[in-house]
Amino acid sequence: MNRLKLATVWLGGCSGCHMSFLDLDEWLIDLAQQVDIVYTPFADIKEYPQGVDVVLVEGAIANEEHLEMIQKVRERSQILISFGDCAVTGNVTALRNPLGSAEPVLQRCYIEAADMYGQIPQAPGIVPPLLDKVQPVHKLVPVDIYLPGCPPSATRIRTVLESLLRGEKPELEGREFIKFG
Ligand code: SF4
Repeated sequence: MNRLKLATVWLGGCSGCHMSFLDLDEWLIDLAQQVDIVYTPFADIKEYPQGVDVVLVEGAIANEEHLEMIQKVRERSQILISFGDCAVTGNVTALRNPLGSAEPVLQRCYIEAADMYGQIPQAPGIVPPLLDKVQPVHKLVPVDIYLPGCPPSATRIRTVLESLLRGEKPELEGREFIKFG
């Protein structure tokens, strides 16, 4: 039997969803016996591969690098899971949206709050420009499964992955599985 190719991607989020993935603790050993993890921020893999079966995408789309990455992830993955509230709704990452653009945030952080020599970072090809509006993943590409939570608990993550390993679509129902926050 072909082993499932699993990826995890970190976009505009705090990495808390990935920390919750690590909370799977000893079940990670069972998981490792059933899947190949082909891309993840936990490992130094430079290029998102072709032919990914399942990908967990943490975070909203907040900068140009995220925009490029999510298109690539969608093209190369069969099942895309919006992983955590930032991916599902924008959540914390989208709190800057009412300001109207990225400029007020950059001004506040890098000019007004600077102790000295305030300067907005500009390094084309190195520092990706912020988008004026942060968007949840499904606004940019089709999403197959929504896994809410800030972060989703390890139990939720395990329930989803176990269903997929059985070849079933996860049915997330009830407060325990679909509550935000
Ligand atoms: Fe962090 Fe919560 Fe967003 Fe996950 S959903 S990236 S834990 S803020």
